[in-house]
Amino acid sequence: MTTDANMLSRPLGVPDLLDRLEACHGPQQPSWPVDPYEFLVWWHCGYPTSDAACARGWDGLRRNFGVDAEKILSAPPAKLTAALKGSGMFPEVRAAYLKEIAQRVQSEFGGDLRAALVAMGGNARKALKTFHSIADPGADRILLFARISPIAAVPSNCTQVLARIRNGADPDTYNASYRDAQQAIEAEVPRQFHARTRAYLLLKEHGQTICKRTNPKCVECPVRDACAYFARHQNPQPNIASV
Ligand code: SF4
Repeated sequence: MTTDANMLSRPLGVPDLLDRLEACHGPQQPSWPVDPYEFLVWWHCGYPTSDAACARGWDGLRRNFGVDAEKILSAPPAKLTAALKGSGMFPEVRAAYLKEIAQRVQSEFGGDLRAALVAMGGNARKALKTFHSIADPGADRILLFARISPIAAVPSNCTQVLARIRNGADPDTYNASYRDAQQAIEAEVPRQFHARTRAYLLLKEHGQTICKRTNPKCVECPVRDACAYFARHQNPQPNIASV
């Protein structure tokens, strides 16, 4: 940890940090389907991917066809594309991915992706990563919210929150950022579904609304007194000339 972090008057552990984030943002609930198959469908419903875009595409899909694998497989490609047009770019490509997901879940996972992942145990993460655009963060998120494994998942677009608070800077690489945040949660948040989903959701909310990737709103932040990044940027050390 950096010198700035050591200078903080009130260093916070992750559990205390989460309590303060919850006092600011309130209790959080997932805004996406937590079933693994439905999550994969939802994830491809919007592009560029965002909660709002995916929710729009998901609503369009449900209104027009439903989200069951059979419904998606029987939908005419042009109509499936049309249902996704209001939720971002490349609707025809996303429609093709939806058909691929539905086909694979039927043929490779016995029509019940969640049950198949449970049966796979430690290989479930690897299996999820064979789906398009699912990497470690997506696989961890699916396994946690589907209550398959209480893995220390970190919101993929909010890994900066813990890095800034604890170390005072954004890590050099995304992988390092994700790994460091995951290790902090693993070490300090109980290995329970409720505790780990709560951590995920609070870090996500804080990273999207206040501790944004660019231009974090530090003056509005409820944990700024415990943040090494804030200490470093708001309390620069005086430049005393040597004699
Ligand atoms: S003080 Fe700034 S950098 Fe630190 S957690 Fe809050 S918003 Fe993020």
